[in-house]
Formats: sequence, structure tokens, C-alpha cells
Amino acid sequence: MTYKQNVIIGSTIYSLKECNIKDYGECNHEEATITIRKGLPDKLKYKTLIHEIFHTIWEEYGLPTSNEESMVKRLENGFTSFCMNNPSLAKKIVKELIKKGS
Ligand SMILES: [Zn+2]
Repeated sequence: MTYKQNVIIGSTIYSLKECNIKDYGECNHEEATITIRKGLPDKLKYKTLIHEIFHTIWEEYGLPTSNEESMVKRLENGFTSFCMNNPSLAKKIVKELIKKGS
């Protein structure tokens, strides 16, 4: 993961950085920041990033605030499990979605 970089979610540009924090990750909607704990193993780092991205999607797309953490955890686990169990399909989906001009 390249730190610091921007992550565009909906109409907001979040600043992504790696710092010494207590939790694995944090997301601050007011400051538009996503912070990942410095030194996490790569797989945990990206799982945490997916988790925080789901929190930003939750905010940006106005999903109901009740049970947010529980729902985000389930989405994180479901999505990472999908990617890990279907690597070629996951790569194909990402490759098509990021293709320019379509
Ligand atoms: Zn969370």
C-alpha cells in the first residue's frame, strides 16, 4: 500500500495514511481521513482498508446508521472471502471496472 494517497468515495476525497493508532483502522468522515495502523501484516492491512472503505460507503451513500459496525464487519468478511476464494473472478471484475473508456 502506498501511503499517503487519496481514496475517492462518492463525492468525497479521503486522505489515506498509515499511523501508530490503537485500532487496526479508523475512518473520520468530517476530516475525510482513513487511517490504518502502521506495521500490520499485508493481508490484515488490506482487510482493514476494505473495512474502512465500507464505512466511507456507508456514510457517502446514506445507509442507515443502526448496526453499522456489525454490517460493515459482515461485508468485510464476505467480500474478502469472495476475493480469496475466487481470485481469478475477483481480478477479472476489478480489471473490467477500472478499464478506461467503457
Ligand atoms: Zn468498523
